[in-house]
Amino acid sequence: MKEPIYFDHNATTSAHLEVFKVMEPFYKDVYGNASSLHVKGRQAREAVDEARQEIGDFLQTEPEDILFTSGGTEADNMAVKGVAWANKDKKRHIITSSIEHAAVLTACKQLEKEGFEVAYLPVDKYGLIDPAQLKEAIKKETCLVTIMYANNEVGTVEPIKELAKIARQERVLFHTDAVQAFGKLPINVGDLGIDLLSVSAHKIYGPKGVGALFVKKGVKIIPLMHGGHHERRLRAGTENVGGIAGFGKAVSLARKNIDKQTKYLTSLRDSLHKQITEKITEVYLNGHPTQRLSNTLNLSFRFIEGESIMLNLDLKGICVSTGSACTSGTLEPSHVLTAMGIPVDIAQGSIRFSLGSKNTQREIDHCASVLPEIIEKLRKMSPLT
Ligand code: PLP
Repeated sequence: MKEPIYFDHNATTSAHLEVFKVMEPFYKDVYGNASSLHVKGRQAREAVDEARQEIGDFLQTEPEDILFTSGGTEADNMAVKGVAWANKDKKRHIITSSIEHAAVLTACKQLEKEGFEVAYLPVDKYGLIDPAQLKEAIKKETCLVTIMYANNEVGTVEPIKELAKIARQERVLFHTDAVQAFGKLPINVGDLGIDLLSVSAHKIYGPKGVGALFVKKGVKIIPLMHGGHHERRLRAGTENVGGIAGFGKAVSLARKNIDKQTKYLTSLRDSLHKQITEKITEVYLNGHPTQRLSNTLNLSFRFIEGESIMLNLDLKGICVSTGSACTSGTLEPSHVLTAMGIPVDIAQGSIRFSLGSKNTQREIDHCASVLPEIIEKLRKMSPLT
């Protein structure tokens, strides 16, 4: 079968060949436990330390501020629950947004069951949070503000520096889920005034099942995992040495290519958008027109369901994703689009194209050439047209 065209990089990416090469020895000869004191252990420890340095360098912070996890989900849980539990006796109020990833939203829901109060900030039609609303929501019991850096569905990039400044002025810790922004935007945690930040390897051509949490010195968190003395005693468990080494390589490649990639992906994304809007009527952009990730294009096609477009594109060998989840026969519109105030019928017709470094202009042109036919066919069948 011909390799499909892959436009779903916000879901995951394929590991870069150089990443794969860096990882390979750790599943063969360099199999030591990073906690062992002998030569095999020291080899593994060196690889973990190097990767920690890479991530620290990207975020412009010290390597010891980086704790490895099993991915973005664990990093988010560790930050949100970790800070909440550390403050549970005095401060039981958390502020987040209504468009967070499930890793943050569900952690917050769990904390509500434990007696915490959570405020879910609204967003505007572009998915942006209003800093004034954050200021208003902060109470003397607030222990944490957790707002994502860039949204996974629509790509909108939040005004993180401004939001973090407000939290700092009110002496509240600030966490950001930077899983989608990391590797795509330069991030200087010190300059931004961030206390905790979550990242994941598999969104940036690294392996699945590895992530990290930046925890600024002096910030107290209660660990999720208990066991050995790994990761400053904050995340017990034998390190995933191969995965961590691959993560380090992926970060170093991302850092080297960030400007070139941004330019390249923006041009592909805008070409796809332009061609689609020229050929198809009643198409709406979801997300901010400019303050948006360079690789993300979320469009709503009126009168039809995103799920049907996705399945038809799949039949044509093009992988995209949709925010709607088909559960028990009912199409639920994405919580992100709903929070942005997008009417249900338009939210249900949404498709996310998330581009990556291996995509080409030819693939963009091919997608733009097959899509009008699909849309026309589906609209003809739709009871809404
Ligand atoms: N946060 C955001 C914004 C994401 O997009 C994702 C993954 O889709 C996650 C967290 C979870 O990361 P992981 O898949 O590494 O657990």
